[in-house]
Amino acid sequence: VRVLLIVSILALLAVALWPVIERWLPRLRGLARVETRPDELVKDPVCQTYVVRSRAVRRDIEGHVFFFCSPTCAERYLRGRWSS
Ligand SMILES: [Zn+2]
Repeated sequence: VRVLLIVSILALLAVALWPVIERWLPRLRGLARVETRPDELVKDPVCQTYVVRSRAVRRDIEGHVFFFCSPTCAERYLRGRWSS
């Protein structure tokens, strides 16, 4: 009987807290899956700077998408001055 009581109290708590959990869940998911979100930080492969994706310079190179902090870095990458 005591176990049943505890379980029902926990169930009530879960129901009572669900709106709070639901509100926080997307934020927690957002923290876990940072690189797939649109306004994420992306790394410039040339100067190693992190840039906000929506403001980064995007280049599609040989089927791969690269993000750069500036057109200058994109140019450098395309010209092959930067190598690794
Ligand atoms: Zn850069």
